[in-house]
Amino acid sequence: MERGIGWLYGSVTTTTTTTPLTAADRCDRCGAQAYVRVVLPVGELLFCAHHAREHAPKFTAVAEHVQDETDRLLAEHGAGAGAASS
Ligand SMILES: [Zn+2]
Repeated sequence: MERGIGWLYGSVTTTTTTTPLTAADRCDRCGAQAYVRVVLPVGELLFCAHHAREHAPKFTAVAEHVQDETDRLLAEHGAGAGAASS
């Protein structure tokens, strides 16, 4: 029985395609460059790293898919980027 579940799960995960976020994608809250795309049943939201963290408890409960590219932020701006709490 377990054999069938394996290939089914694998095919589902590989069909998920996402468009990389660009500099033209902006946070819906503050207008900064977006690094997180949240796909909802009714549309999608874009967040910067700061607001993604702030709203994560809310959108993770309802999101169909969360595209997190905050690792790119760290690569481009250093480990301290977006770490400020205020
Ligand atoms: Zn923001």
